[in-house]
Amino acid sequence: MKPALASVELAHPLAQAMDAAQCLAGAHLAATEAARFADQVDTEARFPHEAFAVLREQKLLGAMVPVALGGGGASLETIAAVCRVLGGACASAGMIYAMHQIQVACLVNHASGSAWHEQLLRRLAGEQLLLASATSEEAIGGALRNSGCAVNVDGTSLHLLKMAPTISYGAHADGILVTARRSPDASPSDQVMVSVLKPDYALEGLSAWDTLGMRGTCSNGFRLEARGHTDQVLPVPFGEIADVTMTPVSHILWSALWTGIAADAVQRAKSLFQGQARARPGTLPPSATRVAEAVAIIQMLEGRLELALTHQRQRQTDAGGQSMSAIFNLAAEMNGLKTSVSAMALEAVHIAMLVCGMAGYKHGTPFSLGRHLRDLWSAPLMINNDRILTNTANLLLADRSA
Ligand SMILES: Cc1cc2nc3c(=O)[nH]c(=O)nc-3n(C[C@H](O)[C@H](O)[C@H](O)COP(=O)(O)OP(=O)(O)OC[C@H]3O[C@@H](n4cnc5c(N)ncnc54)[C@H](O)[C@@H]3O)c2cc1C
Repeated sequence: MKPALASVELAHPLAQAMDAAQCLAGAHLAATEAARFADQVDTEARFPHEAFAVLREQKLLGAMVPVALGGGGASLETIAAVCRVLGGACASAGMIYAMHQIQVACLVNHASGSAWHEQLLRRLAGEQLLLASATSEEAIGGALRNSGCAVNVDGTSLHLLKMAPTISYGAHADGILVTARRSPDASPSDQVMVSVLKPDYALEGLSAWDTLGMRGTCSNGFRLEARGHTDQVLPVPFGEIADVTMTPVSHILWSALWTGIAADAVQRAKSLFQGQARARPGTLPPSATRVAEAVAIIQMLEGRLELALTHQRQRQTDAGGQSMSAIFNLAAEMNGLKTSVSAMALEAVHIAMLVCGMAGYKHGTPFSLGRHLRDLWSAPLMINNDRILTNTANLLLADRSA
């Protein structure tokens, strides 16, 4: 079978690097549009088309693709900052952007040397393609490092069938990165990652997405059937992709987004508090200490995220030179980032709700917090915190550092 990308025209070879200021300016434009439609996206549980039109215009879908492949060459720090800005406007738009960039990071870090994937990255930057992810599986749940489905190879052709309980924006994506066992006789943890592109796959709806929050991610369940070329399998085992990139980058970008949601909620509480203080000059409103507490939580989330970004950057600089103990510690740190930020961001919104009272509880006020609270409840569940804490506990058992 012929690789689907063989005839694709290459992106312009003289692409320009995108610096942080340029990415953030684009993110603010997209956030303005995202905020305008956030309630509608939430109510109708629909894809945030308006925000994504701006993100594409601003070339932000290909921002992390290397400049040599036609992208913006933006750093993970910059992409995290974009996720935070979007999260403060529309959590669903921010989550979709974060999930897309996690897939891009996996390709950038682990597909070098694969001509098929280099072409995919060029095309992604040139056409601003949107990539989704299918790791969860019916009967496997959120256990990232196990798959039930398998890649079936016939010569250079592959076939893959996955029953996926959740593929966010699956119906709106241009391609999906799918995990599967390497072959029908491989063990559940002997996984590979396969990039499949429209129109080489068919999605058949299995379940609807009518949820408490993150409604605009349109994370329906699908029967995913794909055919392609064996070149579409990433050249390294999925275990390596998960440890080095997918898990830390997911936890960093999700944390940035959750911090953005919580920071917007706390900003609403702060505005209400300042308004109350202006109405009664000389007296501190009763909610004063709660506002201070919520602001302190946001500062802590920001500090925690900054530290994780620094350690992930150091890890990439030291590539290959890290001891097992350092690798275990970093994995435990990234797990801790996810479990603590997901819990503390929710806590900050709970406090903001107490500050805003009925103005926060009602829909349609400048201080409404229902959407923030509902969207953030996905954070501890999105790869369940209990599952992650169990993994961390196992890492700690194996830790021999003093
Ligand atoms: C907004 C959103 C978008 C998503 N998008 C995608 C996507 O695009 N692609 C994708 O593949 N997946 C996606 N997911 C799914 C996600 O990645 C996880 O697979 C899913 O959150 C896990 O679902 P679960 O809680 O039903 O299953 P499980 O993880 O199997 O957990 C089931 C229950 O068992 C308990 N449990 C399980 N294992 C342990 C353990 N080891 N220790 C303690 N308790 C345990 C937990 O308490 C949990 O309630 C998305 C999820 C959300 C919320």
